[in-house]
This record gives sequence, structure tokens and C-alpha cells, in this order.
Amino acid sequence: MTKKRLTILQLYPRDMNIYGDHGNMLVLKRRAQWHGFDVRVVEYNPGDTFPETVDIVLGGGGQDSGQDKIQQDLLSIGPRLRKLADDGVPMLVICGLYQLFGTFFKTQDGHVIKGIGLFDIETVAGPERLIGNIVTKSDDFGDIVGYENHSGQTFLRAGVAPLGTVIRGAGNNGQDEFEGARHANVIGSYLHGSLLPKNPAIADWLIERAAVNRYGTFTPATPDDRFAKLAREHAIKRPR
Ligand code: GLN
Repeated sequence: MTKKRLTILQLYPRDMNIYGDHGNMLVLKRRAQWHGFDVRVVEYNPGDTFPETVDIVLGGGGQDSGQDKIQQDLLSIGPRLRKLADDGVPMLVICGLYQLFGTFFKTQDGHVIKGIGLFDIETVAGPERLIGNIVTKSDDFGDIVGYENHSGQTFLRAGVAPLGTVIRGAGNNGQDEFEGARHANVIGSYLHGSLLPKNPAIADWLIERAAVNRYGTFTPATPDDRFAKLAREHAIKRPR
């Protein structure tokens, strides 16, 4: 019997891929295989052809200069990404791409990098970088563990749901208690680390959403998560 296939689109791995973000792709791929899928990973860099078939979109963080580099291309594929989001395609975007899935990021030196406005959020660089280990709490995924390093302070406009509320760390801006954002099946977050190895519940949710979209059903396997549990416990105990 041929296996069902899922296609993961990795956005801008050349320019937007720091603090272990590549690990999100590795975990998603392996867990999807454990759940019985054949997995195809498509790397998309500026100027590439946008694939016809996309089941999950992943994107990472980057320096301000990396965000400058990909900005024009991102704006050009923005309508396709928004259409995929409207169709329920799950996505996970971290830090630099989380910011540019919002309306704009105004950097420390005052220039504005426009985003695709998929999230109704805005980001302005603050006086100090927000750096360190972070733990947040979410209704859907329990405690979420990661590492943050950003100058941007992100504010959710009215009606935008956060991914979690901060237990320890700064989160979106260090002022309100929010971390990340959600819209349809799209998750934005500041958490690097990588995020998914220590938070397999989020990985499985992305896979489940993708499988239901394409095939109508999802029958989960029961992966051995002992190492993920140990990694989580260890990370939660680390000092900020
Ligand atoms: N350059 C952005 C900032 O400093 C994003 C950083 C990141 O992706 N880690 O806020």
C-alpha cells in the first residue's frame, strides 16, 4: 500500500534559520514518518518556484539583515501564504518570520520591514534585547519551553489570540504577559531552541491538522517520547 504523503515547505532556510530552528523541520519530518506518512521537504529561498502542493509551512528566525534580504520575496508570496492559511494549512513561524507574518517590524535603526499581515500584530525594536530561556503556558499545548533572543517587541492588536502566557521570560514584549500569536492553524512564536523537539505536542498538532486537511482523518501512532520528556524537564529547570 502506498503511504500517504505530506509536503513540508521550509521558508528561507538560507537566511532565516537561527538558534536551532532547523531542528523544527527535522522533528516534524521524523514524527510525521512515525505517524505513518511519507514526507517531502521543499526548501524555499528567494526567487524559487513556490510549490503547488503544501501541507505544512515552517519558518525560522533571523538577523534584521536576513529579514531585509527576504522581505521583497516574502511580500510577493504573501497572498499565497494567506490563501493557504485561509484553507486551514498549519504553519509554524519563529521569531524573525513571526514578526514578518505580522504587519511590520521597525528595527533599532528606525527602518521599517513590511510584513504580510497574516497576523494583526506589529513589532518595534526596544532599547534592549530580550534574551534567555523561557517557559509559557497554553491551554492547547500545556507548558511550552524554549529560548528567546529578539530586539523586537511585538504587540497583538485587538482580538488576536496569543500562543501562550509567560510563566518565566519576556515573551512578545516583556510588558504584557503574552507570547506568540495564533490565527486559523497558524502559530507564531519567539521560541527557538529548537521548539519542536521539546514540545512534541505542537509538532503532532501541526501533523494532525495537515493530515485532516489533506486526507480527512488522522490516526496517531504512539511515539516513544522519553527523550523529549527529559529534554523538557531539563530545559524547564534551566536558569533564565
Ligand atoms: N531580528 C529580529 C529581532 O532582533 C528577530 C530576531 C530573531 O529571529 N531571533 O527582533
